[in-house]
Formats: sequence, C-alpha cells, structure tokens
Amino acid sequence: MFGPMRIADNIPTSWCEPWKIKTIEHIHLASAEERRSALEIAGWNTFLLPSRRVYIDLLTDSGTNAMSDVQWAAIMTGDEAYAGSKDFERLEEVVQKVYGYEHLIPTHQGRGAEHIQSQIMIKKGQIVPGNMYFTTTKFHQEHAGGEFEDVIVDEAFDPHSEFEFKGNVDLAKLDRIVQRVGPQGIAYVSLETNVNMCGGQPISMANARELKAYCSKLGIKVMLDATRAVENCYFINTKEAGYEATSISAILAELCSYTDGCTISGKKDCLVNIGGFLALRDDHLAQMARELVVAFEGLHTYGGMAGRDMGAMAVGIVESQDFEYIRARVEQVGYLGKRLERFGVPVVKPFGGHAIYLNVRDILPHMPQEQYPAQRIAAELYLESGVRSMERGIVSAGRDHDGNEYKPDLELVRLTIPRRVYTQSHLDYVSEACARVCQRAESIRGLKMVYEPGSLRFFQARFESLN
Ligand SMILES: *Cc1c(COP(=O)(O)O)cnc(C)c1O
Repeated sequence: MFGPMRIADNIPTSWCEPWKIKTIEHIHLASAEERRSALEIAGWNTFLLPSRRVYIDLLTDSGTNAMSDVQWAAIMTGDEAYAGSKDFERLEEVVQKVYGYEHLIPTHQGRGAEHIQSQIMIKKGQIVPGNMYFTTTKFHQEHAGGEFEDVIVDEAFDPHSEFEFKGNVDLAKLDRIVQRVGPQGIAYVSLETNVNMCGGQPISMANARELKAYCSKLGIKVMLDATRAVENCYFINTKEAGYEATSISAILAELCSYTDGCTISGKKDCLVNIGGFLALRDDHLAQMARELVVAFEGLHTYGGMAGRDMGAMAVGIVESQDFEYIRARVEQVGYLGKRLERFGVPVVKPFGGHAIYLNVRDILPHMPQEQYPAQRIAAELYLESGVRSMERGIVSAGRDHDGNEYKPDLELVRLTIPRRVYTQSHLDYVSEACARVCQRAESIRGLKMVYEPGSLRFFQARFESLN
C-alpha cells in the first residue's frame, strides 16, 4: 500500500524559545462591528483604544514583558523595608556584575534616571551630542538647560539602506561640535543602544571603542542609554566580526567599559513591568545623584521601586543574559519581518531588535502625507484583525515653532513585539492581516484631524475618515 519511506534531505535545524507557558491570559477577538465602533469612539487613534477591545497588542514593548516563575517568586519574597532592603543589595550586586558600574541609583522608570542624570551633569547652555534623540531623554536634557545635537550616521535616516549598524555615532559630526564649542561646551555624549527612533538599530563595538578613545583624550564623559543594550549585544554577536564566540555577558561588559555610566528603563531589556536606574562609576557624581533621588524618587535604596520590583528586576537582568533567550527574542522580531517580506508587504530593513516597521509610503503611494497615511494604515490593521500598532510618521512628528507640520521622510507603522508574550502563530496571524490590508491599499482613503492637542499630539489626536 505504501511506498518505501522517504525522508527529505534538507531538514532544517530549528530552535525553540527556552521557556514553556505556565500561566495564560485570555484574549478575545472583538467582532468586525465591535472593532469599527471601538475605532470610531477612539477617533481613529490606536492609542485611544481600550485594551479589552485589542486582540494582539503590538503598541509597545515597554513594560509589556512576561515575567518568569523565578521573577514571580522574587515578587513574593520582596523585602519592603524603607531603608536598606535586601532586594536593593541584590539588584546592586547584579548591576555591578553585569553592567560593571560601581554605583546604583534606582528610579521609578527610565525617565526618572534621565532626570537625575541631566540635573547633575548638564550646565545651562551646554550641548549634549547623541545618536538620535529619544523623547524623554531629550526632554530632560533641555529641562536641565542643555541642548541636544544629533550625531548619528546618515544611514540612520535612509529606510532603504541596509547598513548593519545604523545606530553608530558619526565621529566627524561630533568633532565639528567640539571644534565649535570646545570640550567644556559639551556636557557628555549620550550614546543609545539599539536606537529606538531609527527602528531598534544597533551600534557596533568598534564604534563605541573609537568614541571612547576620542572622548577620553578631551575629558568628555560618555553616558549610555542601556535600555536595549542586551538586544544590541545580540546584534554584535551575530553581525560584528570577532564576536561570534563571545558570550552576551562578555559583550555587554566590554560595551559598558567604554562608558562612564548609564540610564536604563527596566521595562524593556530587564524583563519587568516597571522600574529603572541610573548607574555611575564616579563617586562624586553618585553622591550628587543620591542627594537628588531622595527628593524626586524615593530613598536612595529604593528610588521609587517596591522591594519586590527590585528583586524581580535583579532576576530579569540575569535571565536577559542567556543566549537562548535573546536569540529567541530578536529572531522572533525577524521572523515577523521575513513573513511580511514574503507576502510582499513593504518593511524597513535591516529588521530591528524590538519592532518591525511598515513602510507606508510604499503601501499608499497615492495618498498625500497631509491625509495621515500611516495613521490610516494603523487604523485599518485594527479594523482588519484587532491587531494594535502605532503611527510613526507625520502625526508623531508634530509641528515646528511656527506651527507648520513637520513632514518627516519616514511614514511608518510600528509593530512592536513584547518579550516572551506572543507565539509564532500570533505573528503568522499579524503578518496575514498586514498582507490583507496591503492587498486593498488602492481603495483606502485618508483621514482628517478633528482634534489636535498642543504637544505630543499623537497620543490623543482624533481623526475622521475622508470617505
Ligand atoms: C523607554 C525608553 C526610555 C524611557 O524610559 P521609561 O521607563 O519609559 O521612562 C528612555 N530611553 C529609551 C531608549 C527608551 O526606549
């Protein structure tokens, strides 16, 4: 009845997530009518949708991580002493060992650390060069009297460039600032890993090393935004010659060794839902930071975090160093990117460490930017499938001082993947939904804005459909 057994020659060597699921949270796909009504109530803005109407939530990877059983155990054994909690000691030891900085100042989340760092390190009128801005980072630099200047490489602005280290600092741009204002005119260089605003794109170790050598000669400090440093280290391992056999911990230790301290939002790499910290080498700066943290965050041994949150973060940092984990994390993002590419959906490359971006200029070439094409595609994706994404285009860019809309080159929709939360089949569903939206792109009309907040308009703006 059956022929001889025939096994294929080209059997792939797959790998799996290094975890299995112990607790689940139910999700529910609202009906097409319910989605339509929810979107209209939300003024066609995915930020205004209630989470209970969302099926797969790719709005952000911030604070949306799934914790492990060991982290939950740390939550139960948290030491809630006001001063000198054992969980502070535990977190301090982990930060010293993994990131290599002597002093830990815990904060309620990343922006709390940015606030303290900016206040102690920036004098009014100083420039803070950085590899692309991040919203809260830049806010605190300016709030402290500093001025941000972008020194990222040009490739970062080109969605068609496949350069592998689009996060790199352009040392010639930095040198021009130094020539203009002198080393005293610079507060410090702000170096971000897996640069969020250009799509989660990494910096290379060589670039960090050269930056440190350049800054050391002039006595300028380099401060890391290590929020996505572990994801950046995975890219160094897989893309940069000489690091193939180096562990993630060793790569991270070397990267941090080229810097004088860091701020971190624990809500990303550290695998927790809340928390952050500032870490420093310099004793004097650390003393100043501790004086400020008690005024703005909490006592210097908890800084706005509960003891249990510090415990869970200490465990999360150790778990984030596991190669099997970080490979599953970053490659899952790449999996979605490759599926979309196979369906012919235009995406930005190379794929970043935390998100895939739909290139809406290529999806809706007929639609003028004034009709908010990326906002419309994010809304259409929700209508199609209950999947929530966010606009990163003209709406997010806002207006200049004269009230004119910025017209950014990039008109994107961001699909951000929470850590350890969704499976491959969830991402199959997402990619098919994106493909169906693109298939009917020609019939998709634009939006008009009917309510516009004065600042950070993308969070709360409201729209109506033009058809
Ligand atoms: C999220 C983030 C921050 C701010 O951290 P919060 O915890 O949201 O306050 C700072 N820098 C980068 C790169 C981030 O992604």
